[in-house]
Amino acid sequence: MSARHWLGEHTMSRRVFRASVAGLLIGGLLACGGGGDPSPVMSVDSTGASTFDSASLAGQLATYPLAQLSGAEADSLVFMRQEEQLAHDVYAVSATLWTPPVFANITASEATHSAAVKALLDRYQLTDPLAGLPNGSFKAPAFQALYDALVLASRVSALEAVKVGLQIEELDIRDITQQLAAIDNPDIQTVYGNLVRGSRNHLRAFMKVLTQMGGTYVPRYISQTEFDAIVNSPVETGG
Ligand code: MN
Ligand code: MN
Repeated sequence: MSARHWLGEHTMSRRVFRASVAGLLIGGLLACGGGGDPSPVMSVDSTGASTFDSASLAGQLATYPLAQLSGAEADSLVFMRQEEQLAHDVYAVSATLWTPPVFANITASEATHSAAVKALLDRYQLTDPLAGLPNGSFKAPAFQALYDALVLASRVSALEAVKVGLQIEELDIRDITQQLAAIDNPDIQTVYGNLVRGSRNHLRAFMKVLTQMGGTYVPRYISQTEFDAIVNSPVETGG
């Protein structure tokens, strides 16, 4: 069931990028200390939909030196590109089926989440695992199976589709948090920090809709304590 199992089992051909670019390093160090605060990398609307600004993100990423990429970091980028795209593709189907605007709003945000991970793949010259694939198609069997199961569940009713949203956001929160423990490159940390903040906001947004519909939900990937702490705290703006 969990797409995460795939991460441990698969082997990927990766081109580890070894930075030997002193000029980039110096440029990055100079840019880091700047006092001016440019436009935020991620914006959050009144519903909690959390969207990367691609130009701001590119500017932010350019301030970081290109550090050596570990195997765990490379694997994680390939994994998260697919997990963020899966969120987008599932919500895109729900947006065509069900009226609550939360589906279309968060679909649009997830497209920027997937693109943010793609920007990191490009930065490290890693192959995009989604290259040439249409929405809803994954080469990794675990992601394909998860996508198919979540779309099937989302077709049952609007309420079930909202529960699928909660499930996806929980999964994202768990996986990003776990993978961050093995990541020390600051550019990846910046993107992942925003991704997980976005997922907490999306969890809040879906939970608000679920409550309005009179539904109940039991978390399956994070603890009830962690789930409650997130949904009972305000939407996180800034960043
Ligand atoms: Mn996301
Ligand atoms: Mn999300």
